[in-house]
Amino acid sequence: MRLSRYFLPVLKETPREAQIVSHRLMLQAGMIKQASAGIYSWLPLGYKVLKRIEQIVHEEQARAGHMAMLMPTIQSADLWRESGRYDAYGEEMLRIKDRHDREMLFTPTAEELITDIFRAHVSSYKDLPLTMYQIQWKFRDEVRPRFGVMRGREFYMKDGYNFDLTKEDALHAYNRHLVSYLRTYERMGLQAIPMRADSGPIGGDDTHEFLVLADTGESEVFYDSEITDLKFGDRQIDYDDHAACAAVLAEFTSRYARTDETHDEALFAQVPAERQRTARGIEVGQIFYFGTKYSESMGATVQGPDGKSVPVHMGSHGIGVSRLLGAIIEASHDDKGIIWPEGVTPFHCGIVNLKQGDDEADAACLALYNGLQALGLDPLYDDRNERAGAKFGTMDLIGLPWRITVGPRGLKNGVVELTSRRTGESEELPPEEAIARIA
Ligand code: ATP
Ligand code: MG
Ligand code: MG
Ligand code: MG
Repeated sequence: MRLSRYFLPVLKETPREAQIVSHRLMLQAGMIKQASAGIYSWLPLGYKVLKRIEQIVHEEQARAGHMAMLMPTIQSADLWRESGRYDAYGEEMLRIKDRHDREMLFTPTAEELITDIFRAHVSSYKDLPLTMYQIQWKFRDEVRPRFGVMRGREFYMKDGYNFDLTKEDALHAYNRHLVSYLRTYERMGLQAIPMRADSGPIGGDDTHEFLVLADTGESEVFYDSEITDLKFGDRQIDYDDHAACAAVLAEFTSRYARTDETHDEALFAQVPAERQRTARGIEVGQIFYFGTKYSESMGATVQGPDGKSVPVHMGSHGIGVSRLLGAIIEASHDDKGIIWPEGVTPFHCGIVNLKQGDDEADAACLALYNGLQALGLDPLYDDRNERAGAKFGTMDLIGLPWRITVGPRGLKNGVVELTSRRTGESEELPPEEAIARIA
């Protein structure tokens, strides 16, 4: 993409409505624009990152054997009456009436709808286990929408649902989700710590939230500092292996780590004092096992091997896809702007032409641009007629991992400058080598 043709409405002034750095940087970098309270338009740069995050979620769900599907955002109130949640959900649910005066709602989550699909089509244990998920817009009429996409009213969420014959199988699905979530967040350059949590309106006993530590997080968290040493890394896990998945859960929940909702002072006191940490965290996901709560109320049963009809065991599992943009920026920025982890960066690198209109510089930039694209990479070429300082400022703000700076002086010696956004270190090298370094 050439910056001269791209829609990147960078803000010169600091937006006054932004209370936290990720919100400010997303506005300044022209990634989002507020449409109304807690509701945002995703401008090209923000949309690109959103799609990269979504893609990682899809890939890791596929790896775990979960099937992607899509359910509507507008749902009928009738299903929610069956589960009893139409009344229980309260003010966070946006209720709508259609022209026939039928009560509808904008989905805040989708346990009811997926259970309705399941009960219509599955009647035998032979079709289990089954896990389906969607990545779809949700609406919750939050009392205090704030911090940009971090707590929106409309937000993009991955929600997955497992259906199993037994509790043991459903707990395996739970563990499998935990493993796949650890992989998912690490691919985004994030450490998200599973913490014992409270189930809220979803219901159930077994639940973990995934928290990214950040001063601006809305949850208070308590943990044993040893938990932050754990990395999932590139281990290969067989997702069908119950014991292997259970071992990962055991490992990642072996140290004290809880949110304020489930915090237990007496247990925490058993953690050696020098390892006790109190901090703030951003909830970027949550997994639940809730047994037969919905299958019983909504009649989602299957015939077991003995011919008897039993309600299925279920769980649901969410990832805050749009919130993740904010969480990643909170975890990765400096005073100049965003620093995208390679896994989610909107462009792989920026090319800055120091002397636009100079034949040699223009040709060298174009060669780099084409060379990177030929390797399947996505460069952003700043071909505007701007001063170097302004170009560097924009690149630093939007946070691409690499910048290649091209100017007549370097070209005389056959070199360009390659700069890492994260370390700030620069190196002069021939253009082909710069390409090879990024690829
Ligand atoms: P919170 O405690 O922040 O209100 P939640 O526990 O109500 O979140 P869940 O029902 O667990 O949310 O939804 C799954 C995920 O969706 C959350 O872990 C979070 O990352 C994301 N999410 C929830 N509410 C919002 C929101 N208003 N804006 C953006 N993301 C959200
Ligand atoms: Mg909530
Ligand atoms: Mg929560
Ligand atoms: Mg939650």
